[in-house]
Amino acid sequence: MQERKPDPEMFDIAIIGGGINGAGIARDAAGRGLSVYLCEQNDLASGTSSWSSKLIHGGLRYLEHYKFRLVREALNEREILWRIAPHIIWPLRFVLPHHAGLRPAWLLRLGLFLYDHLGGRKRLPGTKTLDLRTHDTGAPLAQDFKRGFEYSDCWVQDARLVVLNAMDARERGAVVETRTKLMSAQRLDDHWELSLQHADGSQTKRRTRRLVNAAGPWVASVLSGAIRANAAAGIRLVQGSHIVVRKLFQHDRAYIFQNADGRIIFAIPYEGDFTLIGTTDRDYQGDPAKVSASEEEIVYLLAAASEYFKAPILRKDVVWTYSGVRPLYDDGASKAQEATRDYVLVMDAPDGKPPLLSVYGGKITTYRRLAIAALDKLGIAPGIRSENWTAEDVLPGGDFAMDGQAKLAAEFRAKHPFLSADEAVRLVQHYGTRARAFLDDAQTREALGRDFGHGVSEAEVRYLMREEWAETAEDVLWRRSKLGLRFTPEEAGVLNAFMQGEQASRLR
Ligand code: FAD
Repeated sequence: MQERKPDPEMFDIAIIGGGINGAGIARDAAGRGLSVYLCEQNDLASGTSSWSSKLIHGGLRYLEHYKFRLVREALNEREILWRIAPHIIWPLRFVLPHHAGLRPAWLLRLGLFLYDHLGGRKRLPGTKTLDLRTHDTGAPLAQDFKRGFEYSDCWVQDARLVVLNAMDARERGAVVETRTKLMSAQRLDDHWELSLQHADGSQTKRRTRRLVNAAGPWVASVLSGAIRANAAAGIRLVQGSHIVVRKLFQHDRAYIFQNADGRIIFAIPYEGDFTLIGTTDRDYQGDPAKVSASEEEIVYLLAAASEYFKAPILRKDVVWTYSGVRPLYDDGASKAQEATRDYVLVMDAPDGKPPLLSVYGGKITTYRRLAIAALDKLGIAPGIRSENWTAEDVLPGGDFAMDGQAKLAAEFRAKHPFLSADEAVRLVQHYGTRARAFLDDAQTREALGRDFGHGVSEAEVRYLMREEWAETAEDVLWRRSKLGLRFTPEEAGVLNAFMQGEQASRLR
């Protein structure tokens, strides 16, 4: 955890919001040699960036809306992000069953041909046609589905991508403060003065030459509230919900199902023992912090998935739900599902005054490109290396081969024989090589300190508190990991009590 620096320091750039876009901009700016400040009102990734479908994808369905620029850019990003973060991003094959009453097979084939060829695919395998009557992915499906197509995208641990970008920014000199809210920003002649409030109620001021509003669903309220500026662009908040059920199938592919309403949903292998089903698209007017999956959305997802699987999925099968709000740029589309997913950067820099850049829309997949575009718009030079340096330098823990997860897990087990195969894989898929920082030379489980259950040791929790800004059990169980699916409330309580004790002893 970083110490609070003295107030009068002048930053080159300050960023409001510790979601993927804020963290991505912070990393890029710090790597270009700028002094960077980022504040996040809650925990990193506590907004939309931990509520996504967790796909690094081109977005097959955006082809229908002719969003070729967005799809090409996103497709290109897949292998770049996989390379810089092979621990938290990995390839995932998707099975698209042909539905006799919906899009014709020739249209699916055309879409997938474009998807395969529009951009940047070197290592991900291309599309193939499947006979679902004999292929293993056909087994859990209803008998009507005889033909399908299999194509590639990637999976991402979304909240961890945010944290790793913030860590990398910090390692390059950025100051990152979580649980710190921008209360007001005042534009002076050559800089902004920010008033910030910390979780303990204390206030600090920061000065910055440039301000970036990357507050996601709060972008407009930060503009009208803290900054007291008029929103130059409209924001359209679109809710998307997911349900998690016990594992529906044994194989490792995901499904993409077409619905009669023109939408699609995914059914994705999740956290070993579960299947993730989502998402919905509906306009949202309430407080983004209070969004939750409605009964209507849950029923919609159950019905849509049950169309395809042999055995219907019932309300009682749902073990968890989550919901997030897409902070989309309002392009006037009539349906929520048709509103553009592309990003829009709005610059406000009246005659020589310090600039303000606001971020609308975007996808996790395109965060790196968004960061480059944002710095470009702010007139920031590429630095001593190319402006695309973030495609080359790996994220913390990602310094191993793109297909090297199994090898690293084997290395962990050889050095720390008490780790089970599943535990070693979990450590690789969360920390990559950085797990060495807390595994150290431990030969027994006891050497890692207290055991909080489900393979979580005191050494790991201390690492998360020291290096990854974790302060509560919720940060650890629902954002640094998804172990909340396994922990009982009692186990979570024990972990939380430990973390609170640690926090208190640090403040003493
Ligand atoms: P956020 O993650 O919301 O971050 C903004 C942050 O700003 C928040 O953490 C908030 O607390 C903070 N903040 C707000 N006000 C203040 C203040 N005053 N002071 C300090 N901090 C403040 N994209 C993909 O690429 N793949 C997918 O599979 C995918 N699936 C999705 C599924 C759903 C259901 C949804 C909703 C989105 C999905 N997306 C996906 C899109 C993606 O999740 C978002 O575009 C992205 O997470 C937005 O990131 P952000 O940084 O702009 O916003």
